[in-house]
Amino acid sequence: MTALPPALQRLMETLERLPGIGPKSAARLTFFLLKQPELARTLAEALQALEAVTLCQRCFHITEAGQPLCAICRDPNRDASTICVVEEPLDVLALERAGVYQGVYHVLHGVISPVEGVGPEDLRIPELLDRVTQGEVKEVILATNPSLEGDATASYLASLLKPLGVRVTRLAQGLPSGGDLEYADPLTLVRALVGRQEVT
Ligand SMILES: [Zn+2]
Repeated sequence: MTALPPALQRLMETLERLPGIGPKSAARLTFFLLKQPELARTLAEALQALEAVTLCQRCFHITEAGQPLCAICRDPNRDASTICVVEEPLDVLALERAGVYQGVYHVLHGVISPVEGVGPEDLRIPELLDRVTQGEVKEVILATNPSLEGDATASYLASLLKPLGVRVTRLAQGLPSGGDLEYADPLTLVRALVGRQEVT
């Protein structure tokens, strides 16, 4: 194979590191962008702007630059006494799309996974416990994915939260098992939320 200009080589190798992108797709995207300078510029600017995005200091959802708290935590109409615990910011977006949840969130940024070497200390668990201990939190909804790791993480969290005297609930069954919250349709999410059950 003829050597490509370093700029193309670099873009191709970078794209290949994205989830779901193999060498062929990376090459196709690279040559596509080469022919679309306008799109390439927009994409470059959008990527640059990512650097300004940070995590909310309270719930660890994404927030804009210069805003220590995310839009949800800043909203006085949200019920701060109910915290919904999710794995990733994308789960927040999925639940927000469903449009029925009025409480606030806490994003763990992963799940406990011995296989992948992720322990409780790698997640935003101490921060969650702090919130529950300090605030006027009445209920914590465990909305980790219905997977092996998601369930195990929920059980672990329940064992830490229940002694703190809060109501601990888990989303109802009905979400596709092993499926991600972010792929569930809004109606399924609403049902799971409304039918949530006390963790005993
Ligand atoms: Zn927040």
